[in-house]
Amino acid sequence: MNLSQVYDSELHEAGSPAAQGQCSHHAAEDAGTCAGEAVVSFQDRDGRWQSGCTLALETLVEKGDIEPLGQGA
Ligand SMILES: [Zn+2]
Repeated sequence: MNLSQVYDSELHEAGSPAAQGQCSHHAAEDAGTCAGEAVVSFQDRDGRWQSGCTLALETLVEKGDIEPLGQGA
């Protein structure tokens, strides 16, 4: 289970898509199903901060990769 929290641009590398409010989860994998705006910041397996849209959040929670927002903090 990786760390997650409400999207915060400060956590992301300046100038990266994630820092600009975009979803880095789908940018790396499947842009076709992306909901667009990032709503969650989470750490991937390498401990790097990624951003995710509502669909990414749903998928990652379903897979058990991150906790639903507002829980476990
Ligand atoms: Zn997305």
